[in-house]
Order: sequence, then structure tokens, then C-alpha cells
Amino acid sequence: MKAISSSRVFIEGMLKDAVVLYENGIITDIVTKTQIPPNCEHQDMDELVIMPGIIDTHVHINEPGRTDWEGFNSATQAAAAGGITTVIDMPLNCIPATTTVAALNAKLNCLKDQMWVDIGFHGGVIPGNAGDLEAMLDQGVRTFKAFMIDSGVAEFPASDTKTLDQAMPILAKHNATLLVHAELDLSTHTAAVKDNSSYQEFLLSRPDNWEVDAISEIIRLAKKHDCAVHIVHLSSSQALDLIQQARQQQVKITAETCPHYLTLNSNTIPDGDSRFKCCPPIRDSRNQDALWQGLENGLIDFIVSDHSPCTPALKRLEEHNLWTAWGGISSLQFGLSLIWTAIQKRGYSFSQLVSWMCEKPAKLVNLQSVKGKIQIGYQADFVIWNPEQSQLIEAKNILHKHKLTAYENHRVYGVVDKTILRGEVIFNRNNNTNFHHAPTGKSLL
Ligand SMILES: [Zn+2]
Repeated sequence: MKAISSSRVFIEGMLKDAVVLYENGIITDIVTKTQIPPNCEHQDMDELVIMPGIIDTHVHINEPGRTDWEGFNSATQAAAAGGITTVIDMPLNCIPATTTVAALNAKLNCLKDQMWVDIGFHGGVIPGNAGDLEAMLDQGVRTFKAFMIDSGVAEFPASDTKTLDQAMPILAKHNATLLVHAELDLSTHTAAVKDNSSYQEFLLSRPDNWEVDAISEIIRLAKKHDCAVHIVHLSSSQALDLIQQARQQQVKITAETCPHYLTLNSNTIPDGDSRFKCCPPIRDSRNQDALWQGLENGLIDFIVSDHSPCTPALKRLEEHNLWTAWGGISSLQFGLSLIWTAIQKRGYSFSQLVSWMCEKPAKLVNLQSVKGKIQIGYQADFVIWNPEQSQLIEAKNILHKHKLTAYENHRVYGVVDKTILRGEVIFNRNNNTNFHHAPTGKSLL
């Protein structure tokens, strides 16, 4: 049996002086220092915070097929260094896209010796693959993603109404959730681009109503098929009213947003800098305030990275063209620090942080009875960190495969000291190799 203690352990909704006992990767008891059993290996973390391991349900790892963009080894090491103990991989930008059992197996075959954290998998819904969904459900995939607009990669075409009408009854029958990239362009003509480096012009090219129209349509389909839907990376706060109304009508709808929508805003994004390009785009500071409000009142359920890297060549930084550059923001390793820094400025609480980054994301992927809380019977997944210490985000500290990020040179609060996955220290800032001698993550199916 092992024991870990601190004066600030997050238990039952608050930080407490406590000792967590665990054995074989499972939390067995929560006690005080005088109650630690003899012969128990005890680590006292002093005043460092001990919190449940973070669960990031929106990560593009891109392996196999685009492993030059990111890969399981680098992504899960970056995750571990950021206090994340579980990532859920998106079904696209890898090749093949995870839209068949064969493609899922191709991905599973890449995992050996590369899983530094636990990894789950979203399947994909694309035109023509309704016949593959039950086989993927049988393999243990419980969540599927569809795009309502061009995804940017040919292997993952957008789903039209017909495709969703075929897929949603199958998912509903199996209590699986459909994740949707909710942007829908109903306009009949596209304005010519005047200045392809202008962030304002890029922002106006993907307006709020694209998200509002898509969410309105997916709510209609969710009602029709009684299928649970989840809006990924919500950027427009204008859609919050629709989500509220749908919930009042018992539609099963949840939503997530991301650090970039919550910490960056279009008022300060420089022109021609494609590191800030993502879709839907980052909007203005008023919209950002409303997104925080949405989190506060529960209309947005949680926060995930949408870590979506590519090679530096595809970001075409030197061209300053926001149309031709690949869209996607890399932030996997820094989500905790980015959100914690913002939470302090905005006066939110520790328990909101844990709800938004551990408890609620666990629910989306049906892990809420084993992960996301420090509680007896739960897996011993912890992030141990110093909320008062700051760090500078700079290339030499970034463990993502590529170091390009919109957050370069940002100073953020919150430094991860150790990350523990099912009882094993998988990341330790204080030892020179930093990582456990071998990866101990598991695939979650
Ligand atoms: Zn994404």
C-alpha cells in the first residue's frame, strides 16, 4: 500500500489536509496523518495541490498516417507533463481516419510502448459508414464525431443531413453520443478575400451564425432521433440560448470549449500570425466573457484542449496568409496552467476547475465512476502541482512534437510537479529523466 499526502488535497469539493491511500492503482482510503498504516510507503507533498488527473477528451494525435504532425509518444508525454492522465483521441487527421474497425485496429497497433497516459478513442461518422458503426460500438467505441462542414482533410468528409439521419438512430440505440463540429454555412455566395493576413477578415468569414445554424440543426436531429449530442469546441456564445432551450425540452445536449476561446481574443490577435488560426475562430473579448458565463451556469460543461498540431511547414508562418495555413492550436501540455491563470483573474473556484477539467469530461466518455475524482474505489490518477508558481511557455519546455503554439512567451501560473497514473509516478519534474522508465498507459475501450 502507498500513501500520498498534502495540506491541499482536493476531496469532496474542497482542498483539505489529507492522506490518500492506494493499492494496485486504486484509492482504498482517505485518512489523516495519524492513521497511516505501518509499512506504508508514504510521500508527503507538503503544500502542493493533489488533484484528480486531468481528462482531455479532445486531442488530435494524428498517428498513424500523419505522425509527422504529432504522435502517441510525444502527445502523451506532453499530456503527462501537463497533469493529464487520460486523453481521448479524435478520429481524424490520422490516416486511415477512425471510421471503420480496420482503421481502429490500425491505430491500436501503433500504441505499443507509446502510451504514457491512458488513451481512449472517438470513432468517426462520415457519409457512407453507417454500416461500420455497430462494429465499432462492439469494439468498445462509445463516442463518435461528425463534421457539419469541411474538416480540412479529404479522409473525413462532412456529414450531411442524410448521413446524420442514418447514423444517429444507430448511436441512439446503443446510448452512444455524437460529437459534432458545429459550423454550417448556409450562405449562397462567398465574399472575395481582400486581405488574406487580416485576422478580422478571417473572423468575419466564419461568423457566429455558422455555429448557431449548425447547433440549431443538430438539436433538431437530436430530438428527432433521441440521440445524445455534444458540441465540440464551442466558440460562439450566441449559441448558448439554443443549448439552454434544448435542455429545457429534455434534449440530451452537452458542450465543451477550449483554452484558446477562454484566454485569447480577437481584439489582441496579431494579423498574419497563423498560430492563432483555428476553426471555429477565436472571437472578441465580450464573447469570451459570455463563454465563461456559460461555464459558470453549466450550459458549457467542460474545457478540453482541442490540441490540433501540424508540421511548421503547414502553418506557413512566413506567408502571413490565414486562408492557406493549416488551422489548429497546440496547447495539450498547458491547459491546466492556462485555465488556472484565467480562473484566478476571473475569481472562479478550485472546485470549478476540477469540475471543468476532470469530473465533467469523465462523464462524456463514461469514465465518471472510475476517473475524475479522488474518492475510494476510483483509480489513483493524480496531478500534484504548485498553483502559486509560474512558468514561461517557451520552445525549450514544450514536449509536443512541434513547438509552434499561440501561447509562446505567455507567463502562466501552475506548475506540475508530478503526475500519477493508476498509482505510478509517470512524470516527475524533479528527476532528470522526468518520465517513468517505461510507458504505463492503457487503451480504454
Ligand atoms: Zn478538434
